[in-house]
Amino acid sequence: MDPITTEVPRIEADFLPSAQGYWSDVPPEQWNDWKWQLKNRVTSLDGLEQHLLLTPEERAGVILSGNKLALAVTPHYFNLIERENPGCPIRRQIIPHVGEGAFSAAEMADPCGEDSHMPVPGLVHRYPDRVLFLVTDRCAAYCRYCTRSRVVSGAGEQELHTDFDEAIAYLEKHTEIRDVLLSGGDPLLFSDGKLDALLTRLRAIPHLEFLRIGTRVPIFLPQRITPELCRMLQKHHPLWMSIHTNHPRELTTEVRDALAMLANHGVPLGNQSVLLAGVNDSLPVMKSLVQKLLRCRVRPYYLYQCDLIQGSAHLRAPVHKGIEIIEGLRGHTTGYAIPQFVIDAPGGGGKVPINPGYVFFHDKEKVVFRNFEGRVFEYPEVQEGDSTRSSHGTEKGDLGESFPEILHDEVCSL
Ligand code: SF4
Repeated sequence: MDPITTEVPRIEADFLPSAQGYWSDVPPEQWNDWKWQLKNRVTSLDGLEQHLLLTPEERAGVILSGNKLALAVTPHYFNLIERENPGCPIRRQIIPHVGEGAFSAAEMADPCGEDSHMPVPGLVHRYPDRVLFLVTDRCAAYCRYCTRSRVVSGAGEQELHTDFDEAIAYLEKHTEIRDVLLSGGDPLLFSDGKLDALLTRLRAIPHLEFLRIGTRVPIFLPQRITPELCRMLQKHHPLWMSIHTNHPRELTTEVRDALAMLANHGVPLGNQSVLLAGVNDSLPVMKSLVQKLLRCRVRPYYLYQCDLIQGSAHLRAPVHKGIEIIEGLRGHTTGYAIPQFVIDAPGGGGKVPINPGYVFFHDKEKVVFRNFEGRVFEYPEVQEGDSTRSSHGTEKGDLGESFPEILHDEVCSL
């Protein structure tokens, strides 16, 4: 079975429980305790091989992970892995692979150039009005393609030494900053009290208009989303949350219920996915994911081309796959369901939208473009300063009649 091109079985479009699976003898009150989940993560070769048949490439990858990016999988997420299928899309995201040791010339330890945009340790200030605040280097589980694998998990050579006082002082001084994204690592691994204290300090800075939390905890560890946490978060509105999910099977009933609790406490939810080979580089998989996300009141936000992180070649899908996915969604499903496909420009250029080519021609007179069915239209350009001019748009025919080639440069210049 080709995991890339296979249609998603209908059952994957529905919500299934992770249930207790391999841990069925554990009392439910422990299973549902997020601290128990963290304490009982699978972190070793032995732990994996108790339940999975590993390939030689995976075994070698696990050994390699000891001094690169740690191995850790919560029991909840582990139950989603197919025991005998190395192509399982959940498994590819979380089980180390020997390919992580193969570096190419284009790959980098810090592909988004974050370290060179850090005015104080742990605070990345790249865009004019917002900052990324790296508050921890720990996650509930570790994604094998992590952009920050240089610091995340504590296994690699580099360490994260966030200076919270200096970071707060910088934010107080820089009145142009209106938006702070807390990330890491995963901020939701903080205790309620610690996170509350940090959010309170940030909220006390008058020019900060809103806060965001970037987290994969609702997917890896839905037990962490408790009524107490949600009530605490609610005190700090406007507070938004970007979750990170890549495959529809990650959206279990437990995850759906955790997301519902966040939404019911007024937290606007967006999702970021990374385009990954053999995980979600096909239209049926992504369509199922984005439609399920809407059912969870989560707006698909970004689909990222996988960053050029060292040792990620086996997980990177070609850019054209991402363009084809967006093309297959636009017009074919709800507009809310369509994420923006972006490449984070290597070295620190920021996110750049990459779109299918809808525009054939654009000058001062008109723009000529196609719709999702390939029908070609013309829209008269507005003549600035001439309010008396009026003209009408027209349909020019089907794709290919007059404009056989899509001019990607024209699209990008709009
Ligand atoms: S949860 Fe985010 S920060 Fe943590 S390993 Fe995954 S991608 Fe990296």
